Amino acid sequence: MSLSTPSHPAAAFTPNSLPSFLQADQLGPWGTYLQQVDRVTPYLGTLSRWVETLKRPKRMLIVDVPIHMDNGTVAHFEGYRVQHNTSRGPGKGGVRFHQDVTLSEVMALSAWMSVKNAAVNLPFGGAKGGVRVNPKLLSLGELERVTRRYTSEIGVIIGPTKDIPAPDVNTDERIMAWMMDTYSMNEGSTATGVVTGKPIALGGSLGRREATGRGVYTVGVEAAQKIGLSLTGAKLAVQGFGNVGSVAAQLFVQAGATLVAVQDHSGTVFNGAGLDVAALQAYVQAHGGVAGFAAAQALDPDVFWEVDCDVLIPAALEGQITVHNAARIQARLLIEGANGPTTPEADDILAERQILVVPDVIANAGGVTVSYFEWVQDFSSFFWTEADINARLVRIMREAFEGIWEVAQTHRVSLRTATFIVACTRILQARELRGLYP
Ligand code: GLU
Repeated sequence: MSLSTPSHPAAAFTPNSLPSFLQADQLGPWGTYLQQVDRVTPYLGTLSRWVETLKRPKRMLIVDVPIHMDNGTVAHFEGYRVQHNTSRGPGKGGVRFHQDVTLSEVMALSAWMSVKNAAVNLPFGGAKGGVRVNPKLLSLGELERVTRRYTSEIGVIIGPTKDIPAPDVNTDERIMAWMMDTYSMNEGSTATGVVTGKPIALGGSLGRREATGRGVYTVGVEAAQKIGLSLTGAKLAVQGFGNVGSVAAQLFVQAGATLVAVQDHSGTVFNGAGLDVAALQAYVQAHGGVAGFAAAQALDPDVFWEVDCDVLIPAALEGQITVHNAARIQARLLIEGANGPTTPEADDILAERQILVVPDVIANAGGVTVSYFEWVQDFSSFFWTEADINARLVRIMREAFEGIWEVAQTHRVSLRTATFIVACTRILQARELRGLYP
């Protein structure tokens, strides 16, 4: 008896095929990322033969997260952990809790982590996680149960040398403490290095909470200098007033800028004479959002994009700056605190209007840079001073920005493409040197 030869190999190989579960019109943020990779491919030389690696996440896990609700029912949430690339080291990237999280979004966010980590030359690959849940509707106990069950479910692929989660949208130090504890209980030993962004008392790092905002400010100062924009008296508008937006705003205002507008999920506030950052931070703490802040005028959400400003910092969610508002933006400098806030079409409009965009993959890399410091400190059980941490952060961000600026000048490309050139070259060099197994 003879077996017939399977007929699939050659016929089924289509180099640019999409993951089978995603239709071309359902790509979402992953589609944005794929376009960004296509834009960089011509600059990768012989490494471009490996570019398909960047278009396919290495590993994706979808988990069911069932929990007991306080009212006695059982609720199920969908959770994800995507490891996009581990050529340069373990996966690294945050976990977000949001009702709109999708697999396509987590795929894109994990890929942007690969690019970001390589752009600042951290010895990490890229990963990201998420749970499709609105945490604002959960009690504290329910939030803890979601966190612990999700951590247990993804426990098979995370670990201090495998993949290290961290905070992202709607997750914080307390959630990282539960994640660390859950993983450690399952392992039978305390593993502080399994997550970063932990409380200081559990092996967290000084300066981590402020690190993303500080990094946004650091590259903002460099970029402003390049285009001859003085920060003294510069008008600043910020979307998102959480961990990233509020710290960045505070540092820019300390440097002489005036914060004129802030938008968040609750509303938009404007004051041409300047919003008081500390008062607004306290107000948001107490009320959960900027809406209703007294010393300001409320604006229609869409009007936020045409506010008269010099510097604009989107620091909320992806897909905010699109063909619908890019032509109305007044800023000269746009610094992406959020991940993926600008679509490729909007990028083109901004470039044509000579608005300098400092892309997410370098602008918000400060957070993961101090996460790296935290991971190193946990491994060595030796903790650094905040001054040391901030000095090292600023040095890494400045050097990375300068290198990317030079690449952009040499190839006459945007800072986004330049960052992708630097990062993708590093990732694919590692990929090529390691070789294909088996
Ligand atoms: N969630 C942050 C980011 O998007 C930080 C990730 C980390 O520290 O691992 O960069």
